Amino acid sequence: MKEQNYLDTLVGVFGHPVAENPTKAIQDAAFADLGLKRWQYLTIDVLPEDLGDAVRGLKAFGMRGVNCTIPHKIKVIPFLDELSEAAKLIGAVNTIVNTDGRLFGDNTDGKGFLESLRENGVDPKGKKAVVLGAGGAARAICVELCLAGTEDITVVSRPHGNAQGGSLTDLLARICRRPRFVSWEGAYQVPGDTDILINATPVGLYLGTDAMPDVDVRTIRPSMFVQDVIPNPAVTRFLREAQARGARWNTGAGMLINQAALNTEMWTGMKPDKAVMLRALD
Ligand code: NDP
Repeated sequence: MKEQNYLDTLVGVFGHPVAENPTKAIQDAAFADLGLKRWQYLTIDVLPEDLGDAVRGLKAFGMRGVNCTIPHKIKVIPFLDELSEAAKLIGAVNTIVNTDGRLFGDNTDGKGFLESLRENGVDPKGKKAVVLGAGGAARAICVELCLAGTEDITVVSRPHGNAQGGSLTDLLARICRRPRFVSWEGAYQVPGDTDILINATPVGLYLGTDAMPDVDVRTIRPSMFVQDVIPNPAVTRFLREAQARGARWNTGAGMLINQAALNTEMWTGMKPDKAVMLRALD
């Protein structure tokens, strides 16, 4: 007799606004490829004041987990039962796993970033990194770089921005061997001995934009590896400038796919095919 199991297994993302988040396409492609016919990824617009109800709903529906994106990554923490080490250090959660009603929060942004670097043959251990920006993505990247043994991290951020608020400064002072903070005033001159230069600001996001972070591109050298966090458009003007100066570079799409692949594995226990996920992003 034909098997009759129509029960769906649900995962998804809570965000606001969230309509432009492409993760559904990536995850649904991974589930189909893994033969997980009844798994579905839902894109759910949750207002900040409804976050508690949404988390209770996730439990009530028996959802296997969700991603959290802006503005819920920090505010969701009080609703969770347990946090990973990285999520505790970063102070933000982008992935929740629900195991029999117990909610575990992790942050895979930085891990996806690290994996993406390594796929390009770059090991951050003992290296000197410069991170442009001091927001959530920068924080996740800095924590994972420190945990991976990066020798020296310089955070470049606008005066009166997040880093000056103290939290990233304090955090890096605790976990990084040589943290430095530079106030971003005028075109940033990249130190010549930088190994990895990372744009962790939203400058350059979305098709059609030709903006780039305020960096003196003449100071980018062929010895540097330049990484952008912007997934769309994948090849930003910043990366084109880096290429013109002979530097190796990598787009934010790899980071996005790698963190999504980690999430698939955390929820399903199966390793997805990243090439399938990347194709779904196009
Ligand atoms: P936040 O708003 O938390 O932080 C943004 C940071 O960029 C802040 O330090 C901000 O400085 C700085 N910044 C913004 N505009 C400028 C500017 N014009 N010049 C200099 N600095 C600027 O955002 P997130 O960290 O969460 O996200 C940053 C980017 O990372 C987004 O574009 C997001 O799409 C991308 N991202 C990509 C991921 C991926 O998987 N590829 C994963 C996560 C994020 P200030 O404090 O002064 O405003």
